[in-house]
Amino acid sequence: MAIRKVVTSEDPILRKHSRKVENFNERLWTLLDDMKDTMYKAEGVGLAAVQVGILRRVIVVDVGDGLLELINPEIIESSGSLRDVEGCLSLPGESGTVDRPEFVKIKAQNRDGVWRRYEGTGLKARCFCHEIDHLDGILYTDKVIKDVSAEDIKNGK
Ligand code: ZN
Repeated sequence: MAIRKVVTSEDPILRKHSRKVENFNERLWTLLDDMKDTMYKAEGVGLAAVQVGILRRVIVVDVGDGLLELINPEIIESSGSLRDVEGCLSLPGESGTVDRPEFVKIKAQNRDGVWRRYEGTGLKARCFCHEIDHLDGILYTDKVIKDVSAEDIKNGK
């Protein structure tokens, strides 16, 4: 078990494009194990490899229903829209309001390179979108809807 350092917003690496994973080897498995440990330690629900300084298309997600290791993930279907408050382990102490699809279907490879499909609604869909955005250098702050506070959301505005 190894906890890696989570890079924060000042680090320009967060704006870079992550490369496709081609080799499903021990190096990848160590990265996945470390990302899992790092995410749980930080009490996050998702983490992208770029957040630990590795520009590879790898994310881990756990919204409370089990760990997903997603390699080269792509959104293949999405529908609906849900407005909610979002944060990021790379932007500690901040949050903002973002519209995300209510439902997404993605495809991704597992740690052995096998393609699988995954679906998510609500928080899980939000998490898929947020983490996949990281792989293209996009932060949630790029999508924040100004002038909407957490209070407004609670009140259904
Ligand atoms: Zn994030």
